[in-house]
Amino acid sequence: MDVTQEAVIREFFSQLLGLIQTIQEVLPGVEHRMCVWHMYNNFKKKHPDRVLKERIWVAARVSYRDRFAGLMESLKEFDEGAYNWLVNHTYPKEWTRSHFRTSVKCDILLNNLCESFNSTILDARQKPILDMLETVGFYLMVRMEKKREWIKKYIGEICPKILKKLEKNKLAVNDCIPSHSKNWKFEIRCMYGDRYTVNLISRCCSCRKWDLNGIPCAHAIAAICDTGKEPEKFVYDCYSKEAYMRAYEPMISPMNAEQI
Ligand SMILES: [Zn+2]
Repeated sequence: MDVTQEAVIREFFSQLLGLIQTIQEVLPGVEHRMCVWHMYNNFKKKHPDRVLKERIWVAARVSYRDRFAGLMESLKEFDEGAYNWLVNHTYPKEWTRSHFRTSVKCDILLNNLCESFNSTILDARQKPILDMLETVGFYLMVRMEKKREWIKKYIGEICPKILKKLEKNKLAVNDCIPSHSKNWKFEIRCMYGDRYTVNLISRCCSCRKWDLNGIPCAHAIAAICDTGKEPEKFVYDCYSKEAYMRAYEPMISPMNAEQI
């Protein structure tokens, strides 16, 4: 190994150690989230109580800030040590939906995507760099074609998993009473006294669920139905069949083996 290679490798590992800082430098402005499962595993080393586990997950899933603040206050009263651990070791913007940005239409709390990616490239990772890239390239070539074939046959404007989530949200719509204010703005009164505002033009609800994942929440569905329109028409375009087709449109070309 020559001096240049050694310097490159040393630089690589020093950057790996400062991964968070490096990502901020390489991709400035990109939102950085933590996997809640990993965060909780660190938390439970000092605070193993199962009740705390439930509290952490409720706080992670809650979608708006007032509710999160209330949960944290309640946690402080219940176990001040656990509350202090969270305050000293984490930032809410990294692990609770209530503080996530709404621009990316993604509300995931776990890094399952990375785990799937890792398990897929497990064999390829053991290979020398060119063989590794060829293995990954071949896998992608086959996978992307399978996806293209599948979506061609799919009948429907919105992808099926998203439709399933929308159907689940529809089940709660009977608990919501919509009242039209003006210009497609609604106040939604819920069975247990909660109230939310929905704006169908800017496609947002004050519960922030619609804003976070792009799928109309029960409050939004109540307002949409009040106008006589279909909730499916208010799902964000990123979940459409057309967007799916665009994502898998690029082709990876087949390659010859190295001729011996
Ligand atoms: Zn809502």
